[in-house]
Amino acid sequence: MSRYWSSLVHTLTPYVPGEQPKLDNLVKLNTNEHPYGPSPRVLAAIQQELHDGLRLYPDPNSDRLRLVAADYYGLKPEQVFVGNGSDEVLAHAFMALLKHEQPLLFPDITYSFYPVYCGLYEIDYRCIPLNEHFEIVLEDYLQPNGGIIFPNPNAPTGRLLDLQAIAALLERNTDSVVVIDEAYIDFGGESAVRLIDRFPNLLVIQTLSKSRALAGLRVGFAFGQAPLIEGLDRVKNSFNSYPIDRLALAGAIAAFEDEAYFQEKRAAIIKNREWLVEQLDALGFETVPSAANFVFTRHPQHDGAVLAQRLRQDGIIVRHFKLPRIDQHLRITVGTERQCELLVDALRRIVA
Ligand SMILES: *Cc1c(COP(=O)(O)O)cnc(C)c1O
Repeated sequence: MSRYWSSLVHTLTPYVPGEQPKLDNLVKLNTNEHPYGPSPRVLAAIQQELHDGLRLYPDPNSDRLRLVAADYYGLKPEQVFVGNGSDEVLAHAFMALLKHEQPLLFPDITYSFYPVYCGLYEIDYRCIPLNEHFEIVLEDYLQPNGGIIFPNPNAPTGRLLDLQAIAALLERNTDSVVVIDEAYIDFGGESAVRLIDRFPNLLVIQTLSKSRALAGLRVGFAFGQAPLIEGLDRVKNSFNSYPIDRLALAGAIAAFEDEAYFQEKRAAIIKNREWLVEQLDALGFETVPSAANFVFTRHPQHDGAVLAQRLRQDGIIVRHFKLPRIDQHLRITVGTERQCELLVDALRRIVA
């Protein structure tokens, strides 16, 4: 606390990111990072950028990257916005598109950054409860609102909504923006990017952090019709003209150019997830069906916080949320084959 703070700063409750431990040798399954690392072509592209050119500002509009991402999805460059991680893209979307008279709607169990942005931008919001199976019930969102946002698959549950359900929501909610946060879409879902031509109020947000193994590079996207993108550009250019540095730009472009690596690693993570879910089943865990690179699971006889603590003693860190409805669950990132085996071995010893 300081008397020098603005009155707004006094009211903020900041987001608490998952731990980035300073210790090596931990099996780190707590922040949904990619276990195999980025494509070698990404690393080579970044190395190529390490020269005197770093004295120059990067392209403020990331035009080459916008073009590459637009091509990848069959969009036009003016339908693509690039930001410093999708967290920044989300922040701009809250400010530019989701701040209105009516409350913003999002699930009660979801990405915990959403209420934080509402605090920062002083946006009124209403949490819509998931049903008892942790499913989003879209009918519940058909009420006056200043916007709707949820991740698909949802976090931290991993549950997926199909495109038909999202299209049906968009058909009935035409007066406000619907933001679909697709941080995990590559692990088992179909992107809503395909719906952009039909719906002027749809904004799809993606990131290179999870399925492209580039959480450390900080590159995120928004896709939508040009007027929505222009709204984001207006906020971005009132905040930071150069969100994507030269190294990130080079690495991000290379990531889209190595489709074979992306597909191979994504398939490996999905395979590991399926193996992990089977093993958890056999140990008596109850796991929410996941279309993401993590699983959300609980054991009927073992307290969630205790399980997380015991795993930590074995050098394995997972995410546990001390929140209503989910304090018995663990959110566990799907790691390499070896990491999944270590996790299952540790859990077997703990619950035996
Ligand atoms: C990880 C995550 C993000 C943020 O990703 P960055 O691009 O690394 O900022 C956004 N939304 C959800 C739901 C996430 O899980």
